[in-house]
Amino acid sequence: MRYRWETPASVWQEDERSGEFELLATEGLGRIDWQAHAHSRLPDVARLLGASLPDACACAPIYPEGFAFCPNCGRSLLRLPGTPARQAGWWGPGVDATLPRHVPHGLPVTSLPLGDSLEERPAAPHVGRHDLAMPVPPNAQCVFAASHYGFPEQRLLALAHTRGVLQYWDPVAGLWHVMAPDDGAAGLAFTASCYAWLPVLEPRRGEVAIVPTSSGLHRLWINPVSETYRTEPVLEAPLVAAPGAMRRHIACLVCPDADAGGTVRLWSARSDLLEVEEFACPDIPRAGWSRPIGYDGRLFWLHDQGQLAWRPGQPPLFTPWPPGWLPRLDFGGPTQSRDGRLWHIGHDGQGYSFLELGTDRPESAPIDGARLGFANFLFRRGHPVVDEPWSGEHIEDLNQDDTLVLPLLRAFNNNRSQPSGLVLRFHKYTGRAEEALEARVLPRTTVEWIGRRNVILDEVVRLSRPLDCVPFVYAGCLWLHHPDWNEIRGWRLEDPA
Ligand SMILES: [Zn+2]
Repeated sequence: MRYRWETPASVWQEDERSGEFELLATEGLGRIDWQAHAHSRLPDVARLLGASLPDACACAPIYPEGFAFCPNCGRSLLRLPGTPARQAGWWGPGVDATLPRHVPHGLPVTSLPLGDSLEERPAAPHVGRHDLAMPVPPNAQCVFAASHYGFPEQRLLALAHTRGVLQYWDPVAGLWHVMAPDDGAAGLAFTASCYAWLPVLEPRRGEVAIVPTSSGLHRLWINPVSETYRTEPVLEAPLVAAPGAMRRHIACLVCPDADAGGTVRLWSARSDLLEVEEFACPDIPRAGWSRPIGYDGRLFWLHDQGQLAWRPGQPPLFTPWPPGWLPRLDFGGPTQSRDGRLWHIGHDGQGYSFLELGTDRPESAPIDGARLGFANFLFRRGHPVVDEPWSGEHIEDLNQDDTLVLPLLRAFNNNRSQPSGLVLRFHKYTGRAEEALEARVLPRTTVEWIGRRNVILDEVVRLSRPLDCVPFVYAGCLWLHHPDWNEIRGWRLEDPA
């Protein structure tokens, strides 16, 4: 005999002989492949569904939502909460919708108060170490999202966007799982330009984001019970650049007939996907664009050849860079002057300069050397630049002259006069910034928090390709991932409960 149990969100079947429960269906997750499940996954599944787990008996490994007592022996069960988690999600360092409008969006700037906790650690020159480690996902070149996706608990996803592999972290078992595509799911690979996805702020169960793929924009859904994902098309056309959001609009660059020499078009819609508009963008590149940056009511996509600026409702405008001037997109991203204008660093063959963005007659400001960073979190070698982007560096410690600082993540805090954030410091490095970011193996690097006090969080020997470092915040910790490392390093932001 098999009994059927219906809870508000799910349908379960109880096997009378074994006394075990099998999930047949649950809201929003589509087809459930229960038999394929190892029992080791059940503690995680129970937390996602808000189901019950055995506590004082071992009659069954999982019970339907709301069960307070074991129907077999009457002992009490562990009832897990069923309401979706409220904590802020993480969508990559460039996606934080809660930043104020006067801060550029799309750059690695977070509004999470990371400094409050990290600055309680012993200050430099004390060299700290990470508190925690997590295995690197099997496909290590990836972007991370930590959100509740409509479930009661936050979960971490790692999308290897160059290969189109979606990986799910089971925090209870401590294992990564590769999620299989449902029949008909779109391939998730996107390699034409820098990657960015559009998070869903009020997700339905299993809803992750609107993701760019080589075939268009898709709404991505996960089923962590069956370890599968599915997609729904939002826009079917080969994508040229990642999507961005400006207030109530989203937009991306597509090239419908790329093989036939077609032209790039800017596609836009309201956030509810109504009021679609398209604009032709003749003679602009079909790959190699930055993530879009939102500022001053406009979205900007940057490229080695020029900038594309778009204000919702108006045609986009492509402006090539001045002759001979090449941006250094690897140095970080745009930064602001005190009057609120946006600037980008580049090189004209003679020297470095900042060039004004968003105007067809840009001003330029020459500088005497490379400056790494973005959004007013800028460094000239080992020293911060705190006034205008082209101001002289602020030298506190002459010993930092032979170091080079690469900012990774700025923590935005309205109450601070000087920007704070996470950086890498390359020691005994006096070579060119370009070489440090590309080919070199850097003998000694420290991971540092720059803030009210500077804290050395960790140290790394023989680092190469530092731009592959990916910071993320998940489960009350700041994490730093590099595809070459065996483990992801983590620092606690909260006291362990
Ligand atoms: Zn029991």
